[in-house]
Amino acid sequence: MTIRKIVKHPCEILTTPTKKVLKFDRKLATLLKDMHDTMLDSDGIGIAAPQVGESIRVAIVDLGEGEDIIEMINPEVLETEGSVIDIEGCLSFPELYGEVERPFYVRIKAQERDGRWYELEAEDYEARAILHEIDHLDGILFDSKILRVVDPSELENEEEEIL
Ligand SMILES: [Zn+2]
Repeated sequence: MTIRKIVKHPCEILTTPTKKVLKFDRKLATLLKDMHDTMLDSDGIGIAAPQVGESIRVAIVDLGEGEDIIEMINPEVLETEGSVIDIEGCLSFPELYGEVERPFYVRIKAQERDGRWYELEAEDYEARAILHEIDHLDGILFDSKILRVVDPSELENEEEEIL
């Protein structure tokens, strides 16, 4: 188990668009494992490669509770629909929570760790988590989208909202 250091805001890597993954090798598998370990260690439900210092298009969403771990390599948003305002936090912004408007539904395509393409549909908080992580890969941080800052004492379960 390898816990990597989480890059905190402000840091240039977090606002730099990431590079496409071209090699689907052992190094990528190790990065995915390390990212997942690091995310769980900080009670997050999503993490993007720039948050562990790698400027490449790799992100994970894991809502827990028996849901599959979503590994997204070179993800692209194909379609979005609807709109929801909900609370988000971010591993790179300790103690900052805020209301962010995101689509209710998203359809993406991405590659598996072996390079195979897949499509995925998600709704509600899963869609939110996926879009938060894809934003990271484009160098976009959630603080620029916060409509209202939320005090951590207002949260019912802050561990469910760190992306
Ligand atoms: Zn984040």
